[in-house]
Amino acid sequence: MKNKSASAWSAAKSEEHFGFRRWGSGHYSVDADGFVNVHPEADERGIRVLDVVDEARGMGLQAPMVIRFQDLLRHRVIQLNETFRQAIKQEGYKGEYRGVFPIKVNQLREVVDEVIAAGREYSYGLEAGSKPELMIALAMHEGGQRLIICNGYKDQEYIQLALLGRKLGKKIILVVEQLSELDEIIRLSLETGVKPMIGFRAKLQTRGEGKWATSTGDDAKFGLNTAEILFAVEKLKAARLGSALRLIHFHIGSQVPNILTIKCAVIEAARFYCQLAKMGFPMGYLDVGGGLGIDYDGSRTNFESSMNYSLEEYARDIVFNVREICRSSGVPEPDLVSESGRAVVAPHSLLVLEVFERINKRESLGQKHQPKQKHKVVTDLEVLLRNKTRLGRLERYHDALQKKNEALSLFNLGYLDLENRAAAESLYWQICEQIEKENQKAGYLPEELHDLKKVLADQYVCNFSVFQSLLDHWGLDQLFPIAPLHRLKEKPTVNAVLVDITCDSDGKIDRFIDLQDVKDYITLHPLNNKPYYLGIYLTGAYQDIMGDLHNLFGRVNEVHVFLEEDEPNGFYIEEALSGSKIADVIEGVQYQQEDLCRRMKAQIDAATKKDMVKPREGVRLLEEFERQMQSKTYLNIEPKGAKRKSATR
Ligand SMILES: *Cc1c(COP(=O)(O)O)cnc(C)c1O
Repeated sequence: MKNKSASAWSAAKSEEHFGFRRWGSGHYSVDADGFVNVHPEADERGIRVLDVVDEARGMGLQAPMVIRFQDLLRHRVIQLNETFRQAIKQEGYKGEYRGVFPIKVNQLREVVDEVIAAGREYSYGLEAGSKPELMIALAMHEGGQRLIICNGYKDQEYIQLALLGRKLGKKIILVVEQLSELDEIIRLSLETGVKPMIGFRAKLQTRGEGKWATSTGDDAKFGLNTAEILFAVEKLKAARLGSALRLIHFHIGSQVPNILTIKCAVIEAARFYCQLAKMGFPMGYLDVGGGLGIDYDGSRTNFESSMNYSLEEYARDIVFNVREICRSSGVPEPDLVSESGRAVVAPHSLLVLEVFERINKRESLGQKHQPKQKHKVVTDLEVLLRNKTRLGRLERYHDALQKKNEALSLFNLGYLDLENRAAAESLYWQICEQIEKENQKAGYLPEELHDLKKVLADQYVCNFSVFQSLLDHWGLDQLFPIAPLHRLKEKPTVNAVLVDITCDSDGKIDRFIDLQDVKDYITLHPLNNKPYYLGIYLTGAYQDIMGDLHNLFGRVNEVHVFLEEDEPNGFYIEEALSGSKIADVIEGVQYQQEDLCRRMKAQIDAATKKDMVKPREGVRLLEEFERQMQSKTYLNIEPKGAKRKSATR
C-alpha cells in the first residue's frame, strides 16, 4: 500500500478499505467524488451525508451530531415483517408473525412514532420492560391486533397499568419473570375482575454466545425454571385463570452471533410451548425474544461484533423449527412473536464527529534538540539509528527500548539534561519508525513488533464524549464501523486512534473493525486545516439513551432527515434537536444558573473594589459568564476558513 502513488487511489478503493458494502447492507456507498452516501431504502436513491451536515450547520447545529434517516428506519421495519411473511409463506406455516418493537432499544419519540407508522399494516406491536416504557406503549399503541408485551420486573403498579390496557381491549401480555409476580397478577385480576393475558418466560438451558450471553442458563437473572413453570401452572389453575395463559417467551441475549444458538433455543422453547398446549392451556403465541444481530464488522462470522446468518435465514429457521415440532406434537402452530430491537434500529442513525487536532508523539520532537554535549546514551542511540542493517529488527527494537529506559533513569538521577533527554526520546521514536517501515515488507511479525503500529499511531482528537455517545464501546468493547464522510478519493495514510475531549484516559476509541479479528488503529487522511468529519455508523440501537453526563457534556445535536420524493438526491431536515446547554447540564447536578451567576457577580464586585479589574471590564466579564451559560457544552470549533489556534500539521 505504501509504495503506490496516491493517484492510484480511488473512491472505490475507499469503499473497500472502510468496508461500506460489507457492513452497510446496501444502505451505504461512496460516490465518485469521494463522499459517503446513505441509501435509506437500499436502492439507487442516495443522500450525501456531508450535505446534511452542511445544512445542519446552516441551522446552527455543529458536530458532534446524530443524524437519523427516518426512511431507513421505516425500511427496516418493513424488511423484518416482510421477511417473516415470506418465510411463513414458503414453509406453509399456519400461524402469523406478530413482532413487537422493544422500546428500550431506542425510546426517542420520533423513533417509536416511525416504527408504529411503518408497522401498521403488519400489526407490529411494542415491548416494554419498565413502567415508564409501558406508559409510552399504552398511550402510543393503536389497533386491536397489535401486541404489547410486558417484560422486566413488575410491581403492583406495573401490573395495574397492564390491566388498564386490557380494559381498553388491548392485546397486552404480562410475561411472568418471577413466581412472586404471578401472585400479584392473580390477586389484582381477581380484585378488579379484569382478565389478564399471561406469558411465561422460560429459563432455557440453551446458552447464548457473545457479549450478552448470560440471559439464559441456570444463573440467568430472569425467567422461570422447569419446576417453577409447573408450579405456576398449578397456581393459575387454582385461581381459575388457566385460560389466561397465552404465551411462552425466551430471550437469549442481544447480538447473538451464531445461528446455531438460535436454532437450539427455538427448539427448546417450542417444546415448552407444545407441552403447555397439550396440558390444555389456550396459548397461541411463541415469543423468541431479541438477539437478532447486526454485522458491525461485515465479516459474516460468529465473532461477537458480527453474525453468521442473514435475516432470511433467521426467520426461516424459526418458522421451520416451530412448525416441525408443533406438527410432530399434534399442536396447532402458534403466532410467532420476536422482539428484535437492535436489528431494527441500529442502522438508521450515525454519529458525526469532527477531528480538530492531531497529537503526534514523534514529530513534535524532531531533530530540533541537538544537545551541546551529547551524552553517551544519545550517541549509542544514534549508532542504532544509523547502523540499521547490522542487527535484526527485534534485537534493534530491544536495544532502543533499553537505551530509552536508561536515558530516563539517568535523567531521574540527575545525570542527563533536558536537551539530552529530548534527543534520546526523539531518536527512540525514529528507530521505532524505521523498524515499522521495514515491518511492512516482512511476513510474520513477533508480537512486540506487531504492536509498534499501535504504539506509533497518531491520536486524532474528536469533539465528542465516548461516555455520552458510544457507551457500549467504552463498557463492552463493542465495535462500530467508522469512516470519513468525505475525501474518500484521497488515499488514507495516517494510522490513528480516536480520543475524545473528556478528561479521562479511557475516553477513546482504539479498537476498530477488521475482517480478521480487531484492529488497534484506523487509517485516515492527514488533517489539512479544513474540517474533517468522521461517521460512526450503525449507532441507532442502545447508544442514544445510555449516554451519561461524564464531564457534563450531555446530549449532542440531532437532525431527522427524510428523503425528498421529487428530487433525485434530495432530502429535508424535518426536525432539529439542539444538544445540551451548559445551564441544562449543571441543573442536572443541583446547581442553579442564577445562583452561580450571583456568586460570580459577588466575586467580580469584590475584585473591582480591590481595583483588580476596572468596573467596565467587570461588567463585561459577568456578561461573558452569563452568555456561556446558554452555550453548548461541546467545543465550539471555529468554522472553515477561520484561523485555528492549533494549526494541524
Ligand atoms: C433487550 C431485550 C430485547 C431486545 O433485544 P435485541 O437484541 O436488541 O433485539 C428483547 N427482549 C427482551 C426481553 C430484552 O430484554
